[in-house]
Amino acid sequence: MKIEDIKNLKIGVIGGGYAGATAGLALAQIGANVKVYEQAHASGEVGAGIGLRPASVKLFKKLGIFPAIEAVTSPSDYFEILDTKGNRINLEEWPHLSEGDEKHNTRMIHRRDFIDALTSQLPEGVLQYGYRAEEITDNGDSATVKFTNGEVETFDILVGADGIKSKVRTLWSDSQPVMQGAHAYRAVIDGSQGEGLLVDDNLRLYLEAETGRMIYFLPLRHRGENGQISFDITVPHDDLTWNPDVSKEEVLEMLKNFDERLIKIVEKLDWEQVNQRAAADIDPQDKWNSDAVVLIGDAAHAMLHHQGQGANSAVIDAGVLADCIVEADTVAEALALYTSKRKEPVQELQRISRESWNAESAGETAFPEKDKIDY
Ligand SMILES: Cc1cc2nc3c(=O)[nH]c(=O)nc-3n(C[C@H](O)[C@H](O)[C@H](O)COP(=O)(O)OP(=O)(O)OC[C@H]3O[C@@H](n4cnc5c(N)ncnc54)[C@H](O)[C@@H]3O)c2cc1C
Repeated sequence: MKIEDIKNLKIGVIGGGYAGATAGLALAQIGANVKVYEQAHASGEVGAGIGLRPASVKLFKKLGIFPAIEAVTSPSDYFEILDTKGNRINLEEWPHLSEGDEKHNTRMIHRRDFIDALTSQLPEGVLQYGYRAEEITDNGDSATVKFTNGEVETFDILVGADGIKSKVRTLWSDSQPVMQGAHAYRAVIDGSQGEGLLVDDNLRLYLEAETGRMIYFLPLRHRGENGQISFDITVPHDDLTWNPDVSKEEVLEMLKNFDERLIKIVEKLDWEQVNQRAAADIDPQDKWNSDAVVLIGDAAHAMLHHQGQGANSAVIDAGVLADCIVEADTVAEALALYTSKRKEPVQELQRISRESWNAESAGETAFPEKDKIDY
């Protein structure tokens, strides 16, 4: 679209998580009149870390916000999968880490630092807290949103970035989160509590292949005097409540075959501070857009966390959406183009993530998606 036309576009993004905040940045940069509406009154992310993959890092460089990301991250070279006792099953460099002479290391980041880094780069007034979308109408060539605070707005493009329980998605889908019979117990701990296992900036997965129990050990060495560790225990569990309440004793029993240093870390965890969450995703969605409404991030494709690709996919969606608006002649074409570019690769990630890890898959490759997805 021509720059004058983009400037006249009024775009509303529902949800100020990673997808919504990145969309706000990318759409403001192409010149659109964009606002991001977040239901919360301030940013609120759980205490846990994630790895920003090379494709996300490249996007942040393109958007000019990489310095803000770099300041709160550590560069990582590889992902290692080990058995419960720390014997290597696999070690692989992050795919697409190098491009010619340039490196786009995966960056380890605390979730709160990530959302703060993104929102701090948004132009003044783009992010509106305290706006919960309550009623949405697709008018064909526009969409109208009624917020719980009583305000009503009509947009040329409405972007649903409102997560796994998306309200925007209900325009055309009654899909609900699918509980996958597993829990994640997550905490960020001081490096001094790491039993000597915090040695570099690389992600490690300790896997009990027979039971599917695992620990993701994600270093955040740039944080605090001793560095920090994002410690994520993921286990199959038949309690399907969204925020389960499982005791430390039960978890220790499940992890009894793991290296004693890992068990010691769990013993020392302040269990009150551990975030417990049931693992859920959504089924692949047929429809991602109408002529005026489009889904990005978890709203379109919530996936399990085993490949560490949910947040990464969310930010890439936002970048691709902005590119498609520039490339296409009309809004309807742009939204269809976005879906055509993103749906297939991301649904492949959703599928692979559902398979989780087992002895065979972990032994084959640390990145089952790498030959199928061309970021
Ligand atoms: C245990 C676990 C570990 C994970 N680990 C990783 C990892 O290592 N790497 C990775 O890439 N991903 C990981 N993920 C996935 C990642 O957290 C999600 O994919 C990511 O948060 C999706 O971002 P989003 O912006 O699409 O949605 P969300 O982060 O859910 O944000 C949606 C936002 O919309 C707001 N909202 C919702 N409804 C409304 C409404 N009606 N009106 C206004 N606002 C609304 C919400 O308040 C929220 O701020 C993990 C997830 C889990 C559960």
